[in-house]
Amino acid sequence: MQSLDAFAGDKLTALDAQSLRRRLKPTRRLDGAVVERDGRRLISFSCNDYLNLSHHPAVRAAAAEAALNYGAGAAASRLVTGDHPLLGDLEKRLARLKGTEAACVFGSGYLANMGVIPTVVGPGDLILIDELAHACIWAGAKLSGARTIAFKHNDIADLQRLLTSERPSARHALVATDGVFSMDGDIAPLDQLSTLCNAHDAWLLSDDAHGVGVLAEGRGSAALFPGAEIPLQMGTLSKALGSYGGYLCGSQAVIDLLKTRARTLVYATGLPPACAAAALASLDIIETQPALTALPLAKARAFTEALGLPPAQSPIVPVVIGSATAALAASAKLEAEGYLVVAIRPPTVPEGTARLRIAFSAAHSDADVMRLADLIADIRRDPAA
Ligand code: PMP
Repeated sequence: MQSLDAFAGDKLTALDAQSLRRRLKPTRRLDGAVVERDGRRLISFSCNDYLNLSHHPAVRAAAAEAALNYGAGAAASRLVTGDHPLLGDLEKRLARLKGTEAACVFGSGYLANMGVIPTVVGPGDLILIDELAHACIWAGAKLSGARTIAFKHNDIADLQRLLTSERPSARHALVATDGVFSMDGDIAPLDQLSTLCNAHDAWLLSDDAHGVGVLAEGRGSAALFPGAEIPLQMGTLSKALGSYGGYLCGSQAVIDLLKTRARTLVYATGLPPACAAAALASLDIIETQPALTALPLAKARAFTEALGLPPAQSPIVPVVIGSATAALAASAKLEAEGYLVVAIRPPTVPEGTARLRIAFSAAHSDADVMRLADLIADIRRDPAA
């Protein structure tokens, strides 16, 4: 269709003009933090494989063995024939790690939020979301048909104001936040959010995609706030766990409801057994090696200390540059020095806050962390150089 191609072409031209067009760049991940791109080897500070478990021999062997024994795909929805026993094993382990009654595994973290949110809230209900929460929380909220309002980032007073004015007219209310913010690296005040939610009969959903495996000896951001009640604890298998897939940990009743009603579970093919096997092997490592789980944050802290920045709260450290063009230039400069630090631009981050998002992993050498700090210091001194 000519009109369709013209539409796509016009959109691309407009994005190009604002330095906002994105392009795929084939990247081969090698061992450790090394990646190969355009024939060059680079040290990546842009992977979410915080513990390098995607390349751990035991994790790779578990995935390979499961694929050889049980096939490459799940063949059907979990409710038909795709519920491999490894998924049930994984759910028990995730629930144990998070201290909940039960868990439900989804095809990805994105699918988890897209399935969970519309299962628990709908038209007539209210959703309040931290303005910097991940895109898939917003997608789930939109799909739910519930009235959705953003509250200011980590701003308890703003949330309280909204709950006071908007909660009374809604049947149910959900408050959703990232536990660790994916582009900012800071942590939600889950204790205060929990207290507020209890006071207003609102349900708290925390997305711990970037906390599991790397905070509180691997148990994630919720475990930093022992008194907090978080009935919906979502996460992903695709970052520190080095695999693929998503999950929700919660009460048995909530999990039973998800397994019969969440559309991204009911109508999507089950997670391949190899992904579950890899995640199980990673959990074995995380639960028995607390020193390993502490490394990414320790490296992030060494970096922020070297630069005189506020101490990192998680393995993610943002260096805000401003314009998309300048962020791309900074990223290119680092790439020329052998470091891959991808520029993050709107709409992933708010307008005017394009940034380098640096993700630290157990695989980074201290020398590379310090060399990157020197290069970033130069960029911060003179972004245009
Ligand atoms: N939530 C957050 C905070 C994330 O950063 C991501 C991944 N970018 C997701 C959810 C989605 O998880 P997945 O990649 O498993 O779909």
